[in-house]
Amino acid sequence: VCGLVCFHPCETRCRRGQLDEAIAIRELKRYAAEHGGNLWKKRAVTAPATGKKVAVVGSGPAGLTAAYYLAKLGHSLTVFESQSEPGGMLRMAIPEYRLPRDVLEAEIKYIEDLGVEINTNTEIHYVESLFQQGYEAVFVAIGAQHDVKMGIDGEESHKFIDRLAFLRDVNMGREVSLGGRVAVIGGGHAAIDVARTARRLGCKEVTIIYRRTRNDMPAGSEEIEEALAEGIKILELTMPLKVVHENGDLRIECIRMKPGPIDSSGRRKPEPLTGSEFTLVSDNVIASIGQRLMVSDQFDLPMGRGDFIKVNRDTLATPKKGVFAGGDAVTGPASVIEAISHGRQAAISIDKYLGGNGIIDEALSLLEGEFTPLEEAEEKRRPQAPTLPLKQRLRGFGQVELGYNEGMAVEEAGRCLRCDLEEDN
Ligand SMILES: Cc1cc2nc3c(=O)[nH]c(=O)nc-3n(C[C@H](O)[C@H](O)[C@H](O)COP(=O)(O)OP(=O)(O)OC[C@H]3O[C@@H](n4cnc5c(N)ncnc54)[C@H](O)[C@@H]3O)c2cc1C
Ligand code: SF4
Repeated sequence: VCGLVCFHPCETRCRRGQLDEAIAIRELKRYAAEHGGNLWKKRAVTAPATGKKVAVVGSGPAGLTAAYYLAKLGHSLTVFESQSEPGGMLRMAIPEYRLPRDVLEAEIKYIEDLGVEINTNTEIHYVESLFQQGYEAVFVAIGAQHDVKMGIDGEESHKFIDRLAFLRDVNMGREVSLGGRVAVIGGGHAAIDVARTARRLGCKEVTIIYRRTRNDMPAGSEEIEEALAEGIKILELTMPLKVVHENGDLRIECIRMKPGPIDSSGRRKPEPLTGSEFTLVSDNVIASIGQRLMVSDQFDLPMGRGDFIKVNRDTLATPKKGVFAGGDAVTGPASVIEAISHGRQAAISIDKYLGGNGIIDEALSLLEGEFTPLEEAEEKRRPQAPTLPLKQRLRGFGQVELGYNEGMAVEEAGRCLRCDLEEDN
């Protein structure tokens, strides 16, 4: 999964980036995962059963990761998931053209094969009920399942579609009714996913409306380029003011923005350009401006910044004894790798809470052969992985990024400066 969808924060730290271009770490991990067979499983060990029962609420990357490591430590794990299928946003939000479902299924199956029981269609409202059922610790990893509303007039129209519900319906193969023209509001990864999904459903005119400049969009530049190549328009420096439902159309009243002084995010704060109002006509609007958490009062957990669950940042423990929380429910909408990292930390903390040593690390492969750091690296950029031809993309949800072949993977791995060897010397 990470080899396909990780935002690869490690690449921004790669030293090769100071020379020419960071190593394509995600792409190489994908290659290893796709071609390494089950080699890594050979050295994986599972501890004998401890007899301790742990409940995980939510089967997104945070919950599944915690369940995986805790099961390997010998605990008995049950994951409770309110949806009909496990995976959280990996299944319900991330489109199939970026994350083929057989990859996700295989990884979830591996976790289940360790003995983790996943109970779908089971929403938990009350953490105390889990302790009453004999669970000794609970990890709350319920994500942030609700769209942030724009707070503009017209948002209540049935043609103003809920983004997460839209992606969930498409990903679950349910019928979705969209007109030929769709406006997507927002500039993040999710906005790009919504727009590209709408194109694949046959919408002819898909326009992303973003209040800052294109360069300020939180979405990655590659995704933006792919979206443009697929015929999606980006209306930058534009802010919707209200939406009027008129004769079957949605009239989106917008105003142009101009970049103002630098704000706390380090970007120039957009300011309305007086007198620049205009109207965009569309069949549907999908706002993609953020996610929030709605947690049942019965969970009885204190909320922190941004109305997300408050935890001890080091241990992920909540003030409630035996209850830990992590992932988007704690950080706010973030990333798969941050959720996984919380899942790992929760496993460490819960194991210690249950009397274990909290050691989850294991070496799954040994260094093969001799390596020497490059004496002098010539300037050379990473090879570009092939992508699905444009014509084929819009016919369905086929995977777009096709990954490295062996030659490309070897070439790219050869650019690595082996900084770890230098540190060892
Ligand atoms: C459209 C979109 C695209 C994204 N693309 C990427 C990407 O390419 N790369 C990346 O790194 N990140 C991406 N993200 C972000 C990433 O998916 C999330 O940060 C990550 O999934 C959070 O993991 P989580 O386990 O905390 O929560 P989630 O993945 O949200 O999982 C939480 C689970 O808990 C379940 N749940 C909630 N309440 C209850 C309850 N009371 N009882 C039982 N179950 C419950 C939910 O149904 C859900 O299955 C994307 C997000 C979106 C919306
Ligand atoms: S070891 Fe290789 S991948 Fe890691 S920072 Fe150095 S050059 Fe980049």
